[in-house]
Amino acid sequence: PKGKVTDSLRLRPVAQHLADLIGRPVPATADCIGLGTTDAFHRMKPGQLLLLENLRFRVEEEENDPEFAAQLAAYGDVYVNDAFGTAHRAPASTVGVAEILPAYAGLLMEREIRNLSKLLEAPRKPFAAIIGGAKVSDKIKVLESLIERVDKLVIGGGMANTFLVAQDYTVGKSLLERDRVEDAAKIMKTAEKRGVELLLPTDVLVAKEVTRGAEHKVVPVKKIPNSWSAVDVGPDSIEAFKEALADCETVLWNGPLGVFEVPTFGEGTREVARMLADRCDEGASVVVGGGDSVAAIEELGLTSRFTHISTGGGASLEFLEGVELPGISVLQDRKTELVA
Ligand code: ADP
Ligand code: MG
Repeated sequence: PKGKVTDSLRLRPVAQHLADLIGRPVPATADCIGLGTTDAFHRMKPGQLLLLENLRFRVEEEENDPEFAAQLAAYGDVYVNDAFGTAHRAPASTVGVAEILPAYAGLLMEREIRNLSKLLEAPRKPFAAIIGGAKVSDKIKVLESLIERVDKLVIGGGMANTFLVAQDYTVGKSLLERDRVEDAAKIMKTAEKRGVELLLPTDVLVAKEVTRGAEHKVVPVKKIPNSWSAVDVGPDSIEAFKEALADCETVLWNGPLGVFEVPTFGEGTREVARMLADRCDEGASVVVGGGDSVAAIEELGLTSRFTHISTGGGASLEFLEGVELPGISVLQDRKTELVA
């Protein structure tokens, strides 16, 4: 809402859904602070809940305004943060409030940290990362971090095109970031130096237009026609990816392997999702992050079979880059204060 009251983003439906889930009333306020909210807060009895209206209706939230944070903090004695998905940002409701009240990680936050930390600290080997999605630029930092940790790296999706160009192939009308070719080349060089098995598509599904119903065919990567776009990894690549992943004990997956929103262009994503779900049943740990990757897995009904599905797109990527997330670091070392 960018700091403006937006009726379609009010939290009343969220309150209703929460009420249905827990079987008790969840009243929602019309504003996250202010007289009406303070009044509703003072009328609360032990055991009751109150859902504050969307915090982002106020600019003070994203600005981490100290006055605003203090008003929010006045509504509680203890603060529990379960918003892992925003942990890479520092708004008033997560960082500002946590600097005022004794602040703790909620159960979801704990699960995210535990599962993602395992990938950084002690992954069972072989450890593979599959990175796909639209752009190299969105994921270059996580690629740079992971290339130092993984045994195998699979690249698919739109970003594979930039890697293909770094290998001197041409990619027709495909999504390409020319200014990232150098970055891709650097990743490939590091892979070679570290002995990381790097898998790029060897064949692709190309389409005349990136739309449903468009004419499409499979071609080897050295024969991508000038006026066509690569929209999915091809069958040979899918086989090679599956074979490389078959013995991996730990897999991180971020980013679909094709334009899966168009079912015809989603075969690579679906095949790998099914294969990884089977690997989980066999005891492997597979963690999936990224809004679109998670949506693809949900569409297939496979969610419950995965070791961990991260609720944070940007947050999980930044976590895996190894940087400290402000929403998490502010929660640390608070136990002593509460006890005191
Ligand atoms: P996630 O949300 O899982 O991190 P991204 O947002 O990085 O994933 O990328 C998802 C998007 O990438 C999807 O909308 C998908 O259509 C697009 N995409 C995947 N492969 C290609 C491709 N070959 N060409 C263009 N776009 C692609
Ligand atoms: Mg996305």
